[in-house]
Amino acid sequence: MEKLNFLTAGVPLKAGAKGYGAGFEILNEMGLDGLELEFVRGVRISDKSRDIVGASNKIITAHAPFYVNLNSREEDKIDASIQRIIETAETAYSLNGFSITFHAGFYLGMDKESVYKQIHKGIEVITAELEKVNNKIWIRPETTGKATQWGDLEEIIRLSKEFETVLPCVDFSHLHARYNGISNTYDEFAGIFEKIGKELGQTALDNFHAHIAGIEYGAKGEKKHLNLDESDFNYKDLLKAFKDFNIKGAIVCESPNIEDDAKLMKDYYTSL
Ligand SMILES: [Zn+2]
Repeated sequence: MEKLNFLTAGVPLKAGAKGYGAGFEILNEMGLDGLELEFVRGVRISDKSRDIVGASNKIITAHAPFYVNLNSREEDKIDASIQRIIETAETAYSLNGFSITFHAGFYLGMDKESVYKQIHKGIEVITAELEKVNNKIWIRPETTGKATQWGDLEEIIRLSKEFETVLPCVDFSHLHARYNGISNTYDEFAGIFEKIGKELGQTALDNFHAHIAGIEYGAKGEKKHLNLDESDFNYKDLLKAFKDFNIKGAIVCESPNIEDDAKLMKDYYTSL
């Protein structure tokens, strides 16, 4: 990507029920760069919306359904999870999407290594299927906000090394919440970019996909998303690190006030 883009997680709220057309107008008015298609309750988009999104010239990413667990004990649930991720990738790619993200699975009390292998197996099927139809969208497991959910940064970097079209979606607020408040200083943010650059190369830094929101958390990790000004999340130092490392790609704002915090972040980033 040529620059760092600021996206909303879904259609801007001020569009109300008017949908994507009104949503893109709001993005334009606010100087924002695109949106993440929220397929969290199923990969559904009307033909009319497809036309609008496909013609939008905005940066498009997509979030796969929450009903995904590549480590399920039930084979049919794994198959359904694989299908949901493939459908998300196909829909997003057909709409000129840049990247898709998903929560890959749960540990279910199993040891980390066997869960890694299980998730790897699922990703292998997904990337092979997408390769068959020449779909080149980035497939991104997201860093998750609870210690019961698979996906800390190390696991996702390891997986990304093994597949050409896989890279991390770094949810910085999840990383902050996952271990009850760490990962909230400039040095920690810089360390994340250094690590990703070192392990996955410049491509990963030039094609970044991040999630940022205010967040409430406790000993078990993420509780809920908050607006940035209601939360202790240090987005300012994070954006400084984004600038210093010249990261390009997409930051998706997942605060409850999606477009306002996206603009807050873009304005702050631009002022640096
Ligand atoms: Zn997510």
